[in-house]
Amino acid sequence: YKVKANGKNNYKVYTSSMSMEHMMEFEHSLRKALEWDEFLLYYQPQVSIATNKIVGVEALLRWRRPGYGFIPPADFIPLAEETGLILAIGEKVLRKACEQSVAWRQKGLTDLRIAVNISTLQFQQTNFIEMVTNIISETGANPNQIELEITESVAMGPIENFLAKLSLLKHMGFQIAIDDFGTGYSSLHYLSQFQINRLKIDRSFISSLEKSEKDEAIVKLIVMMAKGLNFNVLAEGVETEAQSTFLKQIGCDEFQGYLFSRPLSLDECEHLLF
Ligand code: C2E
Ligand code: CA
Ligand code: CA
Ligand code: CA
Repeated sequence: YKVKANGKNNYKVYTSSMSMEHMMEFEHSLRKALEWDEFLLYYQPQVSIATNKIVGVEALLRWRRPGYGFIPPADFIPLAEETGLILAIGEKVLRKACEQSVAWRQKGLTDLRIAVNISTLQFQQTNFIEMVTNIISETGANPNQIELEITESVAMGPIENFLAKLSLLKHMGFQIAIDDFGTGYSSLHYLSQFQINRLKIDRSFISSLEKSEKDEAIVKLIVMMAKGLNFNVLAEGVETEAQSTFLKQIGCDEFQGYLFSRPLSLDECEHLLF
């Protein structure tokens, strides 16, 4: 069993640490988890830097595995991608997020956006647009309140296909964010052709802000670039006041991070929202 590093930083659990037997068992329980509905969403607030108000939440997947407690996504998403199970899991995540959006809308949150992580494999499916169309019509969610987070590596396929899909999703009313910006492969050349709403600056740049003047320069540059391209820009993983002060100074629009809140259960999140 080998799991591709996936161009991402945090997936390294399944290289050699598990025996084959253990791995098969893990895959089996991952399949069962779908059937038995063991997945749930946590929500991390996204905050406007100007007003300190919650403008959105990112839906983050959790697996409540009986006998093991909560399994974080970094521990099972690589295997889910390797086995293709991410397609069914991702569909379920989007459906749950849309249902939640409708429920919150009915309670008066008509502007709150919910951001949903879309895996590269999912986005590249030829029936991706059909799948999201079905979920929107079945749940009655407002696409304007749903943000799809894709990573730069998604653009690795033929760029025309990628841009065409983005354009369709925009026309349907979805908001689009580029996740983990700065860590992927997309060339700046394409950035002006992306019809997106938001760049999310990867946590790695934010966490080293105080230590590295170079990262300070990079973050400043990304914010300036985003302004020039008319994208909104959000900083991920903000943990300190110093970081948020710096981000405010350079004109970053939003942030997300432990400074404001960790990812929350539905109950905890509703406590903050209402
Ligand atoms: P991500 O999309 O970059 O999500 C942000 C991650 O950073 C979350 O980890 C969040 O808990 C963590 N985080 C947020 N603020 C802070 C902070 O201030 N400090 C630190 N140290 N960490 C912070 P989480 O929930 O463990 O998710 C990890 C990754 O798993 C996500 O990274 C995303 O790539 C993936 N993921 C999560 N849910 C889904 C999903 O539904 N579908 C797919 N395809 N991937 C998902
Ligand atoms: Ca994300
Ligand atoms: Ca991210
Ligand atoms: Ca990340």
